Amino acid sequence: MAVFGNLIAGEWRVGTETRANINPSDTNDVIGEFTVGSRRDVEDAVAAARQAMKGWASHTEQQRADILFRVGEEMFARREDLGEQLAREEGKTRAEGIGEVIRASQIFRFFAGEVVRFGGEFLPSVRPGIDVSIRREPVGVVGLITPWNFPIAIAAWKIAPALAYGNAVVLKPADLTPASAWALADILHRAGVPAGVFNLVMGRGTIVGQAIVEMTDAVSFTGSVATGTGIVQTAASRMIRVQCEMGGKNPLVVMDDADLDVAINCAVDGSFFQTGQRCTASSRLIVHEAIHDRFIAGVAERLEKIVTGHALEAGTQVGPVVDAKQLEQDLSYIDIGEKGGAHALVRGQRLNRETPGFYLSPTLFTETTNDMRINREEVFGPVAAVIRVKDYEEALATANDTPFGLSSGIVTRSQKLSQHFQANSESGLTMVNLPTAGLDYHVPFGGRKGSSYGPREQGRYAAEFYTIVKTSYAMPV
Ligand code: NAD
Repeated sequence: MAVFGNLIAGEWRVGTETRANINPSDTNDVIGEFTVGSRRDVEDAVAAARQAMKGWASHTEQQRADILFRVGEEMFARREDLGEQLAREEGKTRAEGIGEVIRASQIFRFFAGEVVRFGGEFLPSVRPGIDVSIRREPVGVVGLITPWNFPIAIAAWKIAPALAYGNAVVLKPADLTPASAWALADILHRAGVPAGVFNLVMGRGTIVGQAIVEMTDAVSFTGSVATGTGIVQTAASRMIRVQCEMGGKNPLVVMDDADLDVAINCAVDGSFFQTGQRCTASSRLIVHEAIHDRFIAGVAERLEKIVTGHALEAGTQVGPVVDAKQLEQDLSYIDIGEKGGAHALVRGQRLNRETPGFYLSPTLFTETTNDMRINREEVFGPVAAVIRVKDYEEALATANDTPFGLSSGIVTRSQKLSQHFQANSESGLTMVNLPTAGLDYHVPFGGRKGSSYGPREQGRYAAEFYTIVKTSYAMPV
């Protein structure tokens, strides 16, 4: 079997150590062997990036925009095969995989536009005869570390602004999803990104990831709180800038005046689609007592009909869990929920399908309280818990009572309540009559409290992280 290599200084470098990329819908299906990089590879990639960066920043805006646009165009043209490959290696459904590739292509096209729209400011000085200008410059060599659950979209929303604003990049994808990152690296390489400006180093987090944090000028990370916390500490000790997007325990509030169908749709989509493996998934369903029984009956009815199966099979609505370790974690949280006193109205079961895979049906816990472990800790699987509340004040207080703060939602017909919720929810994203997951690509993304650290990603706000401000004073003589 051919081995996929790392892209360092414009060359594909195949290492001696490799890792098999396994399809979670069919563990007999090996997608490929991927190189496991070393600390030395990171050293080489950072050196190449440092060298190439000068030339990249002085490319004309039009040249940089053209390259990014070409990347977006190829991704869009190949959305079917890239989406299928993504579904094959990660386990999301084919439709979800294609949707993610389309989104990534839109991000590249958006930032192609941003390259030529981007400007500074020119101000009068408070002193006579002096001009003041403010410009934004690239930060340098940026290390990007990504998780497995959105292997193309998250890489895209870090790479595109990094390159658009003139930085050079070293990307380390998650070990479970190297194929999507490799495909993206191949597209960037062929689209004309100069050698060394973009580097891919696949490998272990503790070796390649750690080396990136120790060697680059800035790090943008998405992943778990535990990993992010360590990265922030190392980055702080080097005084480099760092941005972390991490976990969530996102609440969906369902008020007594809610449209029941909308509430059920928001809960089923937000909690269980993409196998619940979304940082923005609704895992706490906070429901007004007057609608509680009808709501849980409606969600349970939908869950009984959900088709969990092979990610590439027509009709599958929920694919498998990503790997054996995550499946183990999901099952253990089902156990923790039951032992903690929650009632499994719908209890997740390991499922057997034609092919061997990590299939798990959804779990809906009811009669839970917000202090239970299943409502405090991120499960990252198809598991949601219902918390019954007596009024809006209790719902809002419960929604905010969490160490996380990524996304939140409310289902209500009341404009007054929805406005109050959007103003008072302690999260980076708030939704009204929409699932807590599902976002646009052109507006800022990020959370608060334990979910995020550093400036926002995506849209024009990405410039906050990927550029450094310079203020220049001049007295014309
Ligand atoms: P993870 O933290 O285990 O890994 C993320 C990345 O960090 C991987 O590439 C991994 O190899 C690397 N890594 C691991 N140890 C490292 C170290 N010591 N130094 C540097 N890098 C290291 O997370 P995961 O399991 O891949 O992803 C799931 C998590 O990601 C969940 O907590 C989820 O909520 C979160 N997530 C957050 C967002 C968001 O935007 N907030 C989006 C998607 C996923």
